[in-house]
Amino acid sequence: MPATHNDTICAIATGTSRAGIGIVRVSGSQTLSVGEKILGFKPNPRYAHSCNFYADNGSIIDNGLAIFFEKPSSYTGEDVLELQGHGGIQILSAVLERVLSLNVRQANPGEFTERAFLNGKIDLLQAEAIADLIDASSKELARSAARSLQGEFSARIEELQEQLTVTRVNVEASIDFYDDDINIISETRLRAALNNTIEDLDRVFQQANQGIILKDGILVVIAGEPNVGKSSLLNTLAGLDSAIVTDIPGTTRDVLKAEVSIDGIPFHLSDTAGLRESIDPVEQEGINRAKSAIAHADQILLLVDATTLNQQDTDGLQPILKAYVSDLSLTPQSLTNLTLIINKIDLSKDPNPGLSKILIDKKNIPVIRLSAKTKIGIDVLKSHLKNISGYKTLASGSYSARHRHLLALTKAKELLISANEKASKHLHLELVAEDLRLAQQSLGNITGEFSTDDLLEEIFSSFCVGK
Ligand code: GDP
Repeated sequence: MPATHNDTICAIATGTSRAGIGIVRVSGSQTLSVGEKILGFKPNPRYAHSCNFYADNGSIIDNGLAIFFEKPSSYTGEDVLELQGHGGIQILSAVLERVLSLNVRQANPGEFTERAFLNGKIDLLQAEAIADLIDASSKELARSAARSLQGEFSARIEELQEQLTVTRVNVEASIDFYDDDINIISETRLRAALNNTIEDLDRVFQQANQGIILKDGILVVIAGEPNVGKSSLLNTLAGLDSAIVTDIPGTTRDVLKAEVSIDGIPFHLSDTAGLRESIDPVEQEGINRAKSAIAHADQILLLVDATTLNQQDTDGLQPILKAYVSDLSLTPQSLTNLTLIINKIDLSKDPNPGLSKILIDKKNIPVIRLSAKTKIGIDVLKSHLKNISGYKTLASGSYSARHRHLLALTKAKELLISANEKASKHLHLELVAEDLRLAQQSLGNITGEFSTDDLLEEIFSSFCVGK
């Protein structure tokens, strides 16, 4: 991050691949004089001038549109000039160099947006939403980022803050009148107000959590013995030949990956090496990687070959699952994110696809019958994956969000629960007030009302140059 925000910065604001139009953006106190030198005249604010961009020696570098935005009515809140020329990297670089020669500095990643935040044009949530909107890999994600950018998420945080301010005012007034034995707020009213805020906070959390699912997606690992059809399943789900499929056992030696979008939810699939003891060091390494992938997975699809099962009832599957748990030294707990897939049903006596459950260690494990080769039952697996992702289409929509937002919401909720408990135990109201203050601070971190330089650096350095 720059030591000062007083200097004038510039960057190519559009992509660097070939395009019809490319934009060099300038922001800062010297912007107007930079414009005068390059354009040969003083641009009017908010007017699209069709003009030439001149080099120092008067030759023409490019021609296009120049738009000047006078502060504070600009993206950054400073004077901004956009030079919209032709979208080739050589021509854009020439324009950029010309601007840089006029005592202007190359912008750091995200610096335009950081200045917009520091000048109060947007809050931190909106700044992050800009990055999310640009990086959005699905329509759903773009919609949730647009919602956050328009300030919906910030408005919900603001509402929570206002509720807490009202409660705090009442609690603190009661503290002031404590000696006079006047209770401004009764315990019942205080607790009702806190419960109300906790419920609202839960709803905001849910909307933000949906945004995280859309953004980060779900990590799915396909595991099982060699030759059960793991690579085939990955290929079928991904709809492309991204993994090698052969009938020689042990051909998948590394973790192969593919990304599939099911109704906008990204699933990151890994096809792991067959889980079996091997003396081949390369294969053994593959198995170790498979174990590590399984340990980090949100969902494990454990594949079994239908033709090797004598019976498809619980008795036949129980030993397979038990062996799997002990092979990987898993705790019974990790069975909660496991789905058993009976593959190759096209070769079995019962070729019907479907979803059922078996009870193992008091846990209901979903079992899906399908064929990776003929694709029967793949739709059942897809809708199962969508269900387990936890994504729900909320009427109120989701917000593009980050883990730091969820952590801050969780912390605020814990503080409100603690305040509620203290109120119920008739502890001193000053302790309640302190919890409420900290909860507000935690919410303030989300919008950047309270933020540290480290946090800002972390957020804006992940942006690309020109944003
Ligand atoms: P992996 O070692 O577990 O990754 O297994 P592969 O995906 O390489 O498949 C092993 C063999 O089983 C290949 O010959 C596949 O064509 C075959 N196979 C996979 N799935 C099916 C299926 O659903 N039906 C049939 N008939 N064959 C399958």
